Amino acid sequence: MRVRTATVLLVAAGLLAPPSVESAAAKKLLVVTVTKGFRHDSIPTAERVLQRLGDESKAFTLDYARTDDELTAKMSPKGLAAYDGVVFASTTGDLPLPDRQAFVDWVAAGHAFVGIHAATDTYHGWAPFIEMIGGEFKTHGPQVKVALLVQDAADPSTKGMASPLDVFDEIYQFKSFEKDRVKTLVALDKHPNEGTPGFYPLAWSRSHGKGRVFYTALGHREDVLEADWFRKHLLGGTLWALGASN
Ligand SMILES: [Zn+2]
Repeated sequence: MRVRTATVLLVAAGLLAPPSVESAAAKKLLVVTVTKGFRHDSIPTAERVLQRLGDESKAFTLDYARTDDELTAKMSPKGLAAYDGVVFASTTGDLPLPDRQAFVDWVAAGHAFVGIHAATDTYHGWAPFIEMIGGEFKTHGPQVKVALLVQDAADPSTKGMASPLDVFDEIYQFKSFEKDRVKTLVALDKHPNEGTPGFYPLAWSRSHGKGRVFYTALGHREDVLEADWFRKHLLGGTLWALGASN
């Protein structure tokens, strides 16, 4: 009781900063940028954009796993306990996780997973990851201007987004995607390069056990990552995955 009184007096006297509500509420995100296949030049831009979103929203702080050693330490079952969510920012190939299954189980236990662009070009052939992220990169053609169509205008990741929205980027096509396993957020109604009518998903979310998964295929190019609409899209999806919005 005496300690508490002393603290109150120190705070009142301006000698001790009051506990920050913001920092107490902020979630902790681990951004993974390790690549074992193609490495995107835009990865540092993706990191900067995420850092700014965290700094400006004050909703989350960020830590990074850029090397195999950092990945091994921070994504061990023990390491993951320090985080509320993980972002795969254009990761590729078979990342040397100390325990892959423990990671997917950790997401299902109630944590956030956010995938940007080549996140679906990661762990090909490892079904638990593909099932968690909701689709697997199949191919892409030359960069092209497409008209993005919002599929759910009430979602935090698409709220306020123009539809159609013309965007020039590298546009992924997917396999192992099942429409009824995800909530599609952004799609095309024709093939990006050939124009054939069809359904081409580009961003979606899903619940994974008690966890939440948000994926956007956009963000190959630096100017896309830095675009205002993309930053809002990524922030909305990330906050939803963290359980900070519904
Ligand atoms: Zn790309």
